[in-house]
Amino acid sequence: MIHLENVSKVYPNGTEALNNITLDIGKGEFVFIVGPSGAGKSTFLKLLIREEKATFGKLSVNGRDLINIKKRKIPYLRRTMGIVFQDFRLIDKMTVFDNVAFAMRAIGEPEKSIKKRVGTVLKIVGLEGTENRRPRELSGGEQQRVSLARALVNRPEILIADEPTGNIDPELSFEIMKMLVAVNRRGTTVIVVTHEHELVRKFGGRVIRIAEGELDSDYFISTKYNPQKPAPKPAGDESAAPPDDDDKQQTDGSAEKPEQNGSSDKEGGQQ
Ligand code: ADP
Repeated sequence: MIHLENVSKVYPNGTEALNNITLDIGKGEFVFIVGPSGAGKSTFLKLLIREEKATFGKLSVNGRDLINIKKRKIPYLRRTMGIVFQDFRLIDKMTVFDNVAFAMRAIGEPEKSIKKRVGTVLKIVGLEGTENRRPRELSGGEQQRVSLARALVNRPEILIADEPTGNIDPELSFEIMKMLVAVNRRGTTVIVVTHEHELVRKFGGRVIRIAEGELDSDYFISTKYNPQKPAPKPAGDESAAPPDDDDKQQTDGSAEKPEQNGSSDKEGGQQ
């Protein structure tokens, strides 16, 4: 679904933000992108949504070649994606309903389907009854849930969340993460950038670590939220631990044993 081959990004000022990244993310995977500040995580996301263009290498998303994609086709690419920002990016003049409906109106969906779908996604994120409120009347955690509802409204194939828990407290972060896992279970590929080691340990899944623009490690943490995907290896083979590096999150604690990453092929579509 997402394919990067020897991808590098050099910004016009000469900063090499990503260097020679090769990886694939399959449909239905749940992936954390971690790494220190300045490592290139946001740049990675920007390449995926084609806000930035890779300088070298091959990059495709859902069969679309993002190196040679025509500018006028980029909005179609983005329609297959839902994006949750750290700072919510809600429009305060609009009600919760209108904030969520915005992306559907942008593509000319009929008002009747909008009403139905917005109701459904607000239910998914536990915000029924808030339709007529304004974002500023909601708590930070609720605002983040509105932003998640907005990202889900057009049934994205890929949900991208950039530090979605960066501006909310730990309990609410946990709730948002549970929702992202639930969305993933419906078949949506979920990619979450975070620096919160605790959440990564707790929720598990595939962990891609970027450091100084390079792909530093790529491994799987199995937990009850993200159990190992159907046996790519014989049962009992749990020998592969993530590389030992003191800047890296440990994989003990609430998580079960880390296992080597296998390909993911969860099926099913979002409702
Ligand atoms: P992270 O999200 O991991 O903190 P970023 O992708 O934001 O890392 O940044 C990676 C590197 O690229 C950093 O050195 C950063 O200063 C640089 N960088 C990011 N955006 C730009 C830009 N628009 N122009 C030049 N350099 C940039």
